[in-house]
Amino acid sequence: MVGFRVVPRFILAVIPIVGVPLSMMAQAPTGPTWDSYTRALPVIRQAIEASGGAERLSKLDDVSMTITGRMHMINQSLSPNGPLAIEQYNAKLLMDLRNNRSWRQQESRYPVDFVFGFQQVTKANEGFVIDLTLNNFGPEFIPLDKDGVATARARDAREIPLLLLRQASERVATLRSLGTRMEGDNKQEIIAFSQPDGTEVTLTFDGKTHLLAKVEILQDNGVNGDEVLSSGFSDYRPVNKILFPHRRIDSRNGTLFRELAYEVNLDMHPADALFDLPKGYVAPSTSAEKPAVELAHNVYRIQSNNSLAVLFKDYVFVVEAPNASRDSEAAIATIRSLAPGKPIRYLTVTHHHEDHAGGARPFMAIGATIVTTPGNRRFFQRIASASHTIRPDELTQKPRPPLIETFDKKRVFSDGEQTLELYSIGPNSHVNEMVLAYLPNQRLLYQGDALILPNSGHDIPKATRLTAEVATKIKELGLQPAIITDVHGRVATADDYRESLRKAGITPQF
Ligand SMILES: [Zn+2]
Repeated sequence: MVGFRVVPRFILAVIPIVGVPLSMMAQAPTGPTWDSYTRALPVIRQAIEASGGAERLSKLDDVSMTITGRMHMINQSLSPNGPLAIEQYNAKLLMDLRNNRSWRQQESRYPVDFVFGFQQVTKANEGFVIDLTLNNFGPEFIPLDKDGVATARARDAREIPLLLLRQASERVATLRSLGTRMEGDNKQEIIAFSQPDGTEVTLTFDGKTHLLAKVEILQDNGVNGDEVLSSGFSDYRPVNKILFPHRRIDSRNGTLFRELAYEVNLDMHPADALFDLPKGYVAPSTSAEKPAVELAHNVYRIQSNNSLAVLFKDYVFVVEAPNASRDSEAAIATIRSLAPGKPIRYLTVTHHHEDHAGGARPFMAIGATIVTTPGNRRFFQRIASASHTIRPDELTQKPRPPLIETFDKKRVFSDGEQTLELYSIGPNSHVNEMVLAYLPNQRLLYQGDALILPNSGHDIPKATRLTAEVATKIKELGLQPAIITDVHGRVATADDYRESLRKAGITPQF
């Protein structure tokens, strides 16, 4: 023992090192991350093998798809209580893998006769979106930067299992196993990974075929709150020796959303010109936008979400709360800077659709009263009680019951100087209940979806059925609007409205 004590220091320092086996110095990874990763990796490899094999897939130049089917109009139907309207869904996708670019064309339809057409093109780090029907954002293209491209590609990949497998195999460090799940006698493997834009996806693989059966993401929705969007793939059939699904069923929190059929073509070798900006489209105007535009004395259009702030002596009345809490939080900040210290006491919406009412929660949180038609009471209660844990808002932090007042035909707010009239004008072809907000002193009308002027250019679109229906109501109520505004488009005049009617062969009545 004495001898041990006198062993020189440097020897002590050396002994443990030379004494440890090499395997201990470069230890193999262990632990939950590694376990999860190593369970997930073979699932991706098996799926690639089952789809056609890595070698065959690596020789693939491009994938073109035609997607057609039916869309169930969640938060876009006649009544907030259902049944859901059904619209046609049409999209064409082309993923040029060889040249790292993509092309997508899609038609969006809304009840009863709204048709919007969009085209999206992405290259390695840039891209654009254009309005093909020129009835939404007009002839100005929307540029996509690197992040915009990543988001667009991630969404496209969620529609094409092969692209998801490709992304997953390029991002293996983000792969995790979520275990298995029995579906009848089918032991499904469930894994997760993070797409290049940061979206976390959950993939479910069929235990027998090893093919991708389902992809899910979590998202926040203004009306429904926390939402699982799921796409189920089936009817896999070979196209040039690669298996592609030919059927897709989407659901949101279990409610049927889209029923789609795929038509797939491979290696079509698209011409370069397909990815060019089509003629007639111009760069977006770069004029700095003010946070609000005063349309008339004490009446402001909030530029971030096109809602309307009507300033009374003692309070502010807001018309329309589109999309989700984020949008209304920005609008409320702008309104507070316009009218410091004045409480926002009321909110009304033209109708219950998500793009008009989905942002109601921040108004509920600050104690504003929702003034609406009777059929929307339950709808707003549902919005108030929806769970928002993915993107918590003020109402999540401080829940309170919503203040809701309903009216039947007409409700007037006036302080002697400022007057706002609300008219219930439903039902029509778009919704069962609809409100017009009218400022008689300023002859300003706020309407929903009856007239949508594109946000750029000078085009006046042809009237839809709703344009004509609302025109009849304007005439019946004896309103004489000079300025007509809404949540979607640029500010219109009565002449613009009349021209839209004439384009559809309708003689204007007001
Ligand atoms: Zn609508």
